[in-house]
Amino acid sequence: MVEDKGNTIIRKAYAKINLALDVIRRREDGYHEVRMIMQTIGLYDVLTFTMCKSSGITVLTDKEELPGDESNLIYKAAKLIIEKYAVQQGVRIELQKNIPMAAGMAGGSTDAAAVFHGMNELFGLGMSEDEMCALGVKIGADVPYCIQGGTALSEGIGEILTRLSDAPACYVLIAKPDIDVSTKYVYENLHADSLTDHPNVDGMKAAIEGGDLHRMAEYMENVLETVTIKAYPVIEEIKDFMKSRGALNALMSGSGPTVFGIFEKEEEARKTYDELKEAGLAKNIFVTGWAGMPTEK
Ligand code: ATP
Repeated sequence: MVEDKGNTIIRKAYAKINLALDVIRRREDGYHEVRMIMQTIGLYDVLTFTMCKSSGITVLTDKEELPGDESNLIYKAAKLIIEKYAVQQGVRIELQKNIPMAAGMAGGSTDAAAVFHGMNELFGLGMSEDEMCALGVKIGADVPYCIQGGTALSEGIGEILTRLSDAPACYVLIAKPDIDVSTKYVYENLHADSLTDHPNVDGMKAAIEGGDLHRMAEYMENVLETVTIKAYPVIEEIKDFMKSRGALNALMSGSGPTVFGIFEKEEEARKTYDELKEAGLAKNIFVTGWAGMPTEK
């Protein structure tokens, strides 16, 4: 979404969850080949872009623990674009961070993706989505998906995307326990070649294409749970908590530790939200839906 106020553009950067996540193998170059069903949810950061006459990149964030220096993916994306398109002016980007960090919801990647859309618009660069994705993958494997958004099958290292029809509407309860999980740690401890259980990604794809919410929920599976839940059993506790209170299913997103539960009824999702808060199992809790759908709120 883009709001234009002359030299300022405001853009939402949506978080994602993985409805299914499979790791096929570890490649010789160290990257993992994956097959994932991705979905954007109604939880987002807000980025404000302002064009400046003098050159240079300024990134300001509202979180002390997240500096706006060269390590920030927002800075990296802006630098890449300015160099590639020889942009003469400078840019100031302010970040309002709402997506929990190190959570498995691609908070950093989606901010980088928003920079591609935002700067494309602000400077009139005329980049196509494919061009943005080709540049975006240099920042991170999930960036091309975040540029595209919606429901998608993601393959390769994450850069081969197939757009799917919108996943069936539902309410989503998001809960992140008070732990930070490093994606690097999880992949390093995954024994991709000895995994015996794999999600039925094609089954889930068919369920989504057929608009069958129950079947979609049945196929929810994430091979990274084998690593993260072993280290942090509270993830399993939150999953069980949601399932015992009406969730069609519950799963860890990405490398974790965020858990999401799928609910058909809004009251059940909201009641479980209250109970989960009371139980003190999670630090950040939200009820939302798919990004851009009426259940988003
Ligand atoms: P993924 O689901 O892609 O594995 P994640 O949700 O686990 O991502 P992020 O929140 O995207 O993790 O970021 C992990 C680390 O990246 C942070 O701890 C932070 O140091 C760094 N980082 C750099 N730029 C950003 C940004 N704009 N937003 C969040 N994290 C950033």
